[in-house]
Amino acid sequence: MKLLIVANWKCNPKTLKGANLLFNSIKRKLKKVKNIEVVICPPFVYLSNIKLSNHSVIKLGAQDCFWKNFGAFTGEISPLMLKDLNCKYIIIGHSERRKYFNESDEIINKKIKAVIEAKIKPILCIGETREEKEKGYIQKKLKSQIEKGLKRVPKKEIKNLIIAYEPIWAIGTGKPCDIKEAQTAYLVIKKIITNLYPYSISKNIKILYGGSVNSKNAKSYIKQAGMDGLLIGGASLNAQEFIKIVRTLT
Ligand code: PEP
Repeated sequence: MKLLIVANWKCNPKTLKGANLLFNSIKRKLKKVKNIEVVICPPFVYLSNIKLSNHSVIKLGAQDCFWKNFGAFTGEISPLMLKDLNCKYIIIGHSERRKYFNESDEIINKKIKAVIEAKIKPILCIGETREEKEKGYIQKKLKSQIEKGLKRVPKKEIKNLIIAYEPIWAIGTGKPCDIKEAQTAYLVIKKIITNLYPYSISKNIKILYGGSVNSKNAKSYIKQAGMDGLLIGGASLNAQEFIKIVRTLT
């Protein structure tokens, strides 16, 4: 299975010039990378400025979307609009959206369905808070987020789904998840999806790790924890560090 490395730029950089600079440095250095798909998810407003050939190892992604394709929904961006701008992936249910925009599992479920219907690959983010971890609720939380997020998603469409395990306490804190704990989470998620879908389908669902990944720890999440890829926030805003992360995996 090809590794999937996703860069989540969040609400950065501040200018289009900065976004182009960052993107072009990454593109130039990762031209020849093999067996890894690199996905860059910039803010919506920069998407149409990023030019990529269809054969590039780098693909475009978005950080969120609405669940309807058009209509009177002021301020929203639809899956079809993103598809038109060549987005191949859309992050759904990032913990920052759950926290700052009150996104519930029910809203996330609507978005997942809309993204799948638009033939774009959704990256469903799940993960526990520090408190839930300390109380021993990790498994319960992951199960509930997966089951609610994927409610009534047709079996035949599920192969395009990607799940990102992002413990909330590890995001942007510089305190990454222990490799053994990440491996346990990977196995827990595998078990949950294998209970929901036939193995022939669930085996194709990639599971990523996200939370304070850097060039020193990236490889362990793949080689030791067994992850199928990484979701990278802070470190993806530094071209050199991001390139280094990708290169450690080749
Ligand atoms: C994220 O926000 O998805 C993330 C993983 O951030 P960071 O790498 O900065 O922890």
